[in-house]
Amino acid sequence: MDATTKSSIARPNAQFDLVNIAFLLLTPIVAFGGTAWYIFYHGVTRLELLNFSLMYLFTGIGITAGYHRYYTHRSYDCSKPLQLFYLIFGAAAVENSALNWCSDHRYHHRFVDTDEDPYNILRGGLYAHIGWIFYKDTRSVHEKYKNIPDLLKDPLVVWQDKWYLFIVLVVSFALPAYVGLIEGRPVGGLLWGGFLRIVIVHHMTFFINSLAHMWGTKPYSEKDTARDNWMLGPFTFGEGYHNFHHKFQADFRNGVRWYQFDLGKWWLYAMNFLGQVRHLKRTPEALILKAKLEVQMRRIEERLAASGAPERMWELVQGRLEAGRQRFEGAMVQYYCAKLEYKRQKDAWTAEMRRQWAAKLETYQNDLDEARRRWAEMIRAMNRIPHPSAQGLLSLTVVFDVLKTRLW
Ligand SMILES: [Zn+2]
Ligand SMILES: [Zn+2]
Repeated sequence: MDATTKSSIARPNAQFDLVNIAFLLLTPIVAFGGTAWYIFYHGVTRLELLNFSLMYLFTGIGITAGYHRYYTHRSYDCSKPLQLFYLIFGAAAVENSALNWCSDHRYHHRFVDTDEDPYNILRGGLYAHIGWIFYKDTRSVHEKYKNIPDLLKDPLVVWQDKWYLFIVLVVSFALPAYVGLIEGRPVGGLLWGGFLRIVIVHHMTFFINSLAHMWGTKPYSEKDTARDNWMLGPFTFGEGYHNFHHKFQADFRNGVRWYQFDLGKWWLYAMNFLGQVRHLKRTPEALILKAKLEVQMRRIEERLAASGAPERMWELVQGRLEAGRQRFEGAMVQYYCAKLEYKRQKDAWTAEMRRQWAAKLETYQNDLDEARRRWAEMIRAMNRIPHPSAQGLLSLTVVFDVLKTRLW
């Protein structure tokens, strides 16, 4: 499909999908009301908690690492047994078949914040969270699925689509009830591992479409509503770093820093170690930093422009910022290119050459750290410019701080 072709998602004018509405409204009643009633009369066992936890983990991973990062974004290669695991437990999350889910999600990325985005946040948080599922999709299968030709060719994915309801009944409901039967409590198993788990996984996933487009920061791109929100990480299997994800969709990570909570990323490290996944796609660090710099630069420029500073001063500061950015980017490219070269060639080099290169790399890294430190200093100084609505005038002392920042 070319970029100008638009699909016709006319959900708000379309008919209600009564099956979806009934399922999404009744399951929370059974999940919370039923489980509370069961606990009151029969208590809770360790097996029930384990049943809930494992079903929660497996179905959540099926969606995050499977439906999302593997099938929608193709951010790594995956063994057949793991593909089967994703398809079975992804279906058990009861969020539709992989064909359907991935098609919607590709439209979401491609047309984000427009009418063509199935869960367009500009229609409101509740609509993006759950409301969009209340409407029937009016498109023909042929029209809807034109953005997933790769998945239509995958026999396992097509098989899952055909048997979707059967898998839901067996894995999402019968299996947890059967686990409960081991200790003579099938209803407890069904409530904990079935209903309660389904509702919680549902809303954890839905938060990505609602909250991750409403609350948080935009460090990598300001082009759309996607936001990074560290608080969402633990509740969404690590998909809370949504601004990064929208900017770098092919990256297998959402929380790109090692300390950022991202269960999907950690799962994929483990699967890589076990030989089940290969070729995990990473965005080069230099590109990530470049995106961040551009956002910071644009924000400062907007602030400067709005501050009513005299043109000459405006130009001086802007020139200084541009020079700082170029210096930072230059140091970055120098370091990452040298690092790549070192990695590629080191086995063919003599010990002496390796030692020389290691020393060179260390110098480049120091250069980069210094450029980063000076850039941060300049941004800090710029951020002290009073907001125009509060004061209206650019503070001369702040400009002086920026101009005196030593670039190199
Ligand atoms: Zn995505
Ligand atoms: Zn999104």
